Amino acid sequence: MSAILMCERAQSRVAFGEELSKKTSVQHEIARSRCDIEQCRLLVMQAAEVMDRDGVKAAMPYISMVKIVAPKMAQDVADRAMQIYGGAGVCQDTLIPSVFTSARFCRIADGPDEVHMSQLAKITMRELNDA
Ligand SMILES: Cc1cc2nc3c(=O)[nH]c(=O)nc-3n(C[C@H](O)[C@H](O)[C@H](O)COP(=O)(O)OP(=O)(O)OC[C@H]3O[C@@H](n4cnc5c(N)ncnc54)[C@H](O)[C@@H]3O)c2cc1C
Repeated sequence: MSAILMCERAQSRVAFGEELSKKTSVQHEIARSRCDIEQCRLLVMQAAEVMDRDGVKAAMPYISMVKIVAPKMAQDVADRAMQIYGGAGVCQDTLIPSVFTSARFCRIADGPDEVHMSQLAKITMRELNDA
């Protein structure tokens, strides 16, 4: 949602004589967002694949990875979209602030990031020791 809005705004808004979409820094934000979304999508698919094939226990590291990566990705993409919208990005005219806030509280509500990272580190070291 944020990424689509970001692209629409970049193509419709003219600032300092050219569309925002022509500015290299804006192009980079769009490209970075696409990379982040696609990386996260593939990670979610990997978690689902391992869960279906080998069960929840085997998928635990992937589930932790998704819990670390997905809310941060959504927050970062929403943050970039806000920046590209300028003042309009921080008022209630678009869903972007709502996406940002939801993503931000997911990083606490489902257990803080730090807890998921500690969990993943422990699983990773256990796997290495057992290998
Ligand atoms: C909108 C919302 C919905 C929620 N829904 C649910 C729910 O459905 N079910 C449920 O059980 N709980 C729910 N919670 C509670 C949520 O799980 C806790 O808020 C969260 O675990 C953090 O606990 P705390 O608020 O007591 O903060 P604290 O435990 O005081 O943590 C504060 C900060 O300290 C750091 N920290 C905490 N523990 C560690 C650690 N082990 N290692 C390193 N750093 C750490 C982190 O930076 C953390 O953000 C919800 C919270 C919110 C805000």
